[in-house]
Amino acid sequence: MKQYQMLIGGHWTDPAAGEWIDSIEPFSGEVIARIPRGSAADAGAAVDAAHAAFHDPAWSELTATARGALLRKLAALIERDAARLADIERSCNGKNITEVAGQARNVAQWFYYYAGLADKIEGAVVPINKPGVFNYVRYEPLGVVAAITPWNSPLALTAWKMAPALACGNTMVIKPSEYTSPPLLELGALALEAGIPPGVVNVITGYGSEIGAALIENRKVAKIAFTGGDFGGREVAVAAARHFKKVTLELGGKSANIVFDDADFDQAVNGAIAGIFGAAGQTCMAGSRLLVQRGIHDRFVARLVEIASQARIGDPALPDTQVGPIATKAQHEKVLRYIDIAKDEGATCILGGRPLSGPGYGQGQFISPTIFTGVTNAMRIAREEVFGPVLAVIPFDEVDEALAIANDSDFGLAAAVWTQDLHRALYCVDRLEAGTVWVNNYRSTSFTTPFGGYKNSGIGREGGTEAVKEYLQPKSVWITTRPNKANPWVLG
Ligand code: NAD
Repeated sequence: MKQYQMLIGGHWTDPAAGEWIDSIEPFSGEVIARIPRGSAADAGAAVDAAHAAFHDPAWSELTATARGALLRKLAALIERDAARLADIERSCNGKNITEVAGQARNVAQWFYYYAGLADKIEGAVVPINKPGVFNYVRYEPLGVVAAITPWNSPLALTAWKMAPALACGNTMVIKPSEYTSPPLLELGALALEAGIPPGVVNVITGYGSEIGAALIENRKVAKIAFTGGDFGGREVAVAAARHFKKVTLELGGKSANIVFDDADFDQAVNGAIAGIFGAAGQTCMAGSRLLVQRGIHDRFVARLVEIASQARIGDPALPDTQVGPIATKAQHEKVLRYIDIAKDEGATCILGGRPLSGPGYGQGQFISPTIFTGVTNAMRIAREEVFGPVLAVIPFDEVDEALAIANDSDFGLAAAVWTQDLHRALYCVDRLEAGTVWVNNYRSTSFTTPFGGYKNSGIGREGGTEAVKEYLQPKSVWITTRPNKANPWVLG
């Protein structure tokens, strides 16, 4: 069993308080690693190191091209170690090895993309409406970025922040979820191996409630990039606002997956299954509200039940497992609570709705794929994020009714539309209040396009060229181009 240290200023460091947290494998229930239980003192040291690195010529005087070259080296190392990183991630969050292996390879692509972008971020020459001046705008890094990430996709969601932040010349303190810190401590080691100067990437571990405030309130931190639940997100946003910190918030969702009666039936069924049972529903973009046009509702639901009831549930390390365990005990209890709430509110549980244990399930906290019909959009199962394999099916008749239901949500992370009618698809795309809309597909993401939420699903965007705007600030520069003896008492 590995006992990790934190990465602070390029050094592997024990926690100041000498305390550790067990990392538990969701499937076996075994302690697979120990991570430092960082304190406010450790957070302060990491911020000091990142702040010093930001001003150190070893980083601040690198050209953007040189920064890109370092990121490319890091990408190559991630590619080299993708299988190892994926296995560590799987052992921490219990996600299927096939899913995390694909994600780990994709993490390298994020670094390649932003490595290429680093020296293509240009300023502007501005045609000022005054004679005798030359004005240009340059884009500068913010400084120290604190990245706080959740347990469901630790490597990917950190890369979404780290790659653009470093490409733009910032330095970082990464605070992973207490449940999934090992993959990010390993990523920190790869950053050092790639030759990224010490202190540019720091990784501290521990509980958000214990070190979050110390990070957010530290005056040397310029920005918080947070991915997590709306509860933690609100706390972070409030704390950041007190100190006028810039924030990016990537929060939860209750995404509507809308199936019209003319949709390619089998494709739409697959999309609905992938939307909610992929990663056992532990994904921010889960299609947890399935809106089905009434004419095909019963046939569609019957097919969903048929497929979901045959899902191979079990050890996520096995390549043919389709549904793995719930990552944590607390999350398992939360999902079961929501199942009870849905039943109490009058929804009909037509599949699953119970924990699974016994042979083949190890010591894991499993929940069988669960489908509720007879759901109304007023029920909590349709309004609140469950973050588990629980689908709420809502029937509708007309397109505008579907849109009204879809948009009647505090969240706005993603939505999907299944139809063969292009006009209807685009009508929906225009009206859906969501940061991502899929037409005839679900759960697609890429480093080349922005991802983020409307409404309570967040603030800001990750991915694509949009993301660099989140890690830069413009500076307007005025240069007098001819002698100027203007009246000093009059504003020029
Ligand atoms: P969480 O909010 O409990 O924790 C996220 C991170 O925040 C952890 O590192 C945690 O230690 C830290 N944290 C918690 N409270 C804090 C505080 N007061 N101050 C500072 N840090 C604090 O989320 P989770 O349970 O780890 O992850 C699941 C959630 O993440 C779901 O709601 C999911 O929708 C969301 N998520 C969103 C996206 C997206 O891109 N929109 C992607 C993945 C997950």
